[in-house]
Amino acid sequence: MSEPRDWISTFKAEPRRSGLFLDFDGTLSAIAPTPAEAVLHPRAAEILPDLARRYPFCVMSGRRAASVASLVGLAHVHYVGLHGMEWMEDEPHIDPEVLPYLPTLDRAREELKDSLTKLPGVFLENKLASISLHLRQVPEMEEQALQLAESLADNLGLKLERGRMTLELRPPVDVNKGTVLIRLAAGWRLKRGLYAGDDLTDVAGFRGLRYLMKEGGFDGIAIAVLSPETPIELEAVADMTVDGPDGLLDLLSQL
Ligand SMILES: [Mg+2]
Repeated sequence: MSEPRDWISTFKAEPRRSGLFLDFDGTLSAIAPTPAEAVLHPRAAEILPDLARRYPFCVMSGRRAASVASLVGLAHVHYVGLHGMEWMEDEPHIDPEVLPYLPTLDRAREELKDSLTKLPGVFLENKLASISLHLRQVPEMEEQALQLAESLADNLGLKLERGRMTLELRPPVDVNKGTVLIRLAAGWRLKRGLYAGDDLTDVAGFRGLRYLMKEGGFDGIAIAVLSPETPIELEAVADMTVDGPDGLLDLLSQL
C-alpha cells in the first residue's frame, strides 16, 4: 500500500470494508488559539457527508465526544472523545474502566486551581475524565507547567500525556485511539483502514493499524497531517504525510 492511487482504488472498490478514522483538531480543523474557537474546515463540511454515507467513519478527539459531535455535526459518523475514553451513541458513554478514577481527577482539579494562580495564562480545561492544560497563550510557561503536571501525576497515580501546546492528566488505563480503532475495526468487520492525525496521541491510532496488520488480513494506511508543530515521533511512524487539513482533504476527496 505504498502508492496512494493503489490504496485509494482498493478503498473505493469495497467501501463498506474500508474504515476512515480521523482526528479533529489540526486534522479536520485548523489549530485555533483556544479550543473553543476551532471550527470544522469548510472543505471538510463539503466532502465529509458523502464519505460518511459510504464508508464506516469515525472522528476521534481528545475533546468530549459531544463537543466533537457538535463541531462536525454530521449523521453517519461514530464520534469518540477523550482519546478513546468516551463515545456517542444516543448520548455520551464513558468507558467503565475510567469511572473509578473520577474522584482522583476531581482532586487533581482542586490542586491545580491553586497552583495555576502562579502560572497566569495557562488555561485549564475540565473534560470530566481528563484535565487539559493549554499553553498556546503562554508557551514560555511550558517547563513550569510540565513540572507541576508531572508531580501531580506522580502523587495521584494519573497518566500525563503531552500534545501540541497541551498537557493532559488522565486515568492510568490502557484505552487510547488505537485500542478503540481495533475494537471498531472488528465490529465493523473491516479489511482495511485509514487513520489521519497531527499529534502525539495519534501515534496510538497508527499503532492500532499496525496491530491489525500484524494479526493479518488487514491493510492500514497511517497519515501524518503536517504543520510546523508536527512531533517528529508522529512523522517517523507514518506511511505518508500531507500538508495540513487542506492536504488531507485533497486526499480524502479522491475517495
Ligand atoms: Mg489533533
